Amino acid sequence: MHVHLAGFNVDTQLVDLIRQIIDEHSHGTPGSKRITELLQKLAEEPITPETLSAAYARISRSSKGIRELRRDARASVNRARRSNETIVFELGHSSIAEHAVFNLDITGASRLVLEALEAHRLASYTEASQRYIPMSGDFFVPDEILKTGLEWEFSEVCQAQFKCYADLIEILTKFHSEIPESERDVKAREDARYVLPLACRGQVGVTINARTAEQMVRSFNQSHLSEVRLMGSQIHEEVRSIVPSLIRYVEADSGIDLADREMARSAYDLIPVIEINSTAEVELISSPTDGESIALASILFQSGKYSFSQAKRAVDKLSHIETQQLIANSHTYLHSFDSVRRDLELGSFTFSITLSASAFAQLKRHRIASLITQDYDVELGCTEPPNIKDANGSVLFNEAMNRATEMYKKLIEKLKPKETAAASYVLTNAHRRRVIFQANARELTHFSRLREDEYAQWDIRNIAHKMIELARDACPGLMQFACGKDQFAERKQQLFS
Ligand SMILES: Cc1cc2nc3c(=O)[nH]c(=O)nc-3n(C[C@H](O)[C@H](O)[C@H](O)COP(=O)(O)OP(=O)(O)OC[C@H]3O[C@@H](n4cnc5c(N)ncnc54)[C@H](O)[C@@H]3O)c2cc1C
Repeated sequence: MHVHLAGFNVDTQLVDLIRQIIDEHSHGTPGSKRITELLQKLAEEPITPETLSAAYARISRSSKGIRELRRDARASVNRARRSNETIVFELGHSSIAEHAVFNLDITGASRLVLEALEAHRLASYTEASQRYIPMSGDFFVPDEILKTGLEWEFSEVCQAQFKCYADLIEILTKFHSEIPESERDVKAREDARYVLPLACRGQVGVTINARTAEQMVRSFNQSHLSEVRLMGSQIHEEVRSIVPSLIRYVEADSGIDLADREMARSAYDLIPVIEINSTAEVELISSPTDGESIALASILFQSGKYSFSQAKRAVDKLSHIETQQLIANSHTYLHSFDSVRRDLELGSFTFSITLSASAFAQLKRHRIASLITQDYDVELGCTEPPNIKDANGSVLFNEAMNRATEMYKKLIEKLKPKETAAASYVLTNAHRRRVIFQANARELTHFSRLREDEYAQWDIRNIAHKMIELARDACPGLMQFACGKDQFAERKQQLFS
């Protein structure tokens, strides 16, 4: 795995200077006095976003204009750094660090390490898709597994998974012979990738600010996976020389491990017997009891000078249908690319979901949500893509699953107690875990627009469909605009005809 700093934000004064030098060079005399002066000026310009965060930090206390504050900060980087340190770390005005932004190329990282990365919500990611890109057979062998002496066996299982992937692509491509050739490969890969290991390498472009970077490095240092810790140290290495004044607290905290162990003991005392098949694939744990009336009261509250309780009393006199209709009426403007009103954020839904690693990879990308995860659990079985079954690929698929599960169990036996998390590298995109996912009605409507759509991948589409059905049954008024993009025009027509 390699982390490379691809970019960061700088004051445009620096960019203007570079432009002037280029202009002077192309229109004036190369090597002229003017160019020398400009180059001298450029050499004195600080190349760091710290001057931006220091200048913005002073906005709240200084009567100077922002441009002047930026000029002051650029005039003395050392002073800007001291100011950042005082304001961010001494005074705790940490959001100042968010004005420094980085772009990072992360290459050769396993799917498992990317899960740890993308668990951080206040960041942007674009990852190579296993649906659109054929996988070459490149996988990661972690140090933890090297230490067990089982690395050859582990590698053999991973290689067999890639071989099975290639065989399934062949079977599925034939199976899809009736669809256009251009779509056939994507369709085949979409399902064949379920047998790929979580050790499979990928790449991702990440945009983060210095505050998120610090939190990432700290949490990665805490990880039980050495690859995650390595990613943390590489991110730290890349950003700390650019913004030394904005990154400070990166050390792991042994108290967290201690608390986790304590909780595992308490859980064992409280719940001595584990029920494996007791949970449905998607379960609604909680929904807002008065969500529709609160959302409508909030909409009325915004439209006038009433207190919230006055608006709520008025709404409480309406029938459920009237409430629903008024919420719909407040959205007559809505296009498929618009968010529903912010008032719908006042109602949240919590789900317990058992899902494949492949579906999880997509669910975790929705950031305006709370996502609590358990480790992968081989007892939860695997998700077999229906097309593999229909194309008579089940025998191959099940063989790959069984081999991965057996190897996982073997690794659990051999790995050091603190390093058992590394056994998950051999599990596949089809292996399952349980998560708790909470989101408000506004985010769920957005989620549905993307994930119930015809272009959505089938696994996440099925899960999204079950989640939205449950949420709509509980609060139809809040979820009335939830549907895939492809269904939006029809849904709007139904609501307003
Ligand atoms: C069909 C399909 C194919 C996809 N293919 C790929 C792929 O190949 N590679 C890949 O990496 N991802 C892929 N994705 C994931 C996609 O890029 C998004 O990361 C994911 O769908 C989450 O949705 P979102 O970004 O709209 O918003 P969410 O994270 O659900 O957030 C909800 C809303 O909050 C706002 N928001 C959240 N965070 C920010 C922010 N930082 N800045 C500004 N606004 C923000 C936006 O308005 C956003 O719509 C795919 C998604 C779909 C549906």
